Amino acid sequence: MNYCPNCGTRLVYNIVDGHNVKTCSECNYIDWDNWVNVSCVTVAYTNNNEIIMVRLKENNKITFPGGYRELGETLEQGATREFYEETGMTVKEVKLYRAYTKDEIRLVWIVFKGKVDEIKFTDNSEVSEIILVKNPSDVDVRDFRGPLTIDVFNSLFE
Ligand SMILES: [Zn+2]
Repeated sequence: MNYCPNCGTRLVYNIVDGHNVKTCSECNYIDWDNWVNVSCVTVAYTNNNEIIMVRLKENNKITFPGGYRELGETLEQGATREFYEETGMTVKEVKLYRAYTKDEIRLVWIVFKGKVDEIKFTDNSEVSEIILVKNPSDVDVRDFRGPLTIDVFNSLFE
């Protein structure tokens, strides 16, 4: 960024703690150049102890419901909204489970656990079907979207 988000002053480079970073001479704001996009993902359980996964229309891959948090939302609100958009179900008792960083694409994945009382599926632009998983053998990890999905999935059955 070129201007201070606090006060609008043009940022200038300075050495801070050995890092060459942009700083604000007016309010001492520092741009640490560590921005990331935040994705909120939810592992939701049914009353039958099944995990709810989704198949993406985009690539036919399987993952957990989730997506990018919008500015102004809490992480839980982002997770709940994305879950609803991709399934039509309201997830409750959303609690922080894990977090991942993937710097090469400036992504932070915040993973929650939650519960769903009633199984249903509302067709939407992103997801073709929901998949209920009780045992690891119910799905093929080769169909998973990527390493983060695989890691979260495996952690659930440790
Ligand atoms: Zn400033």
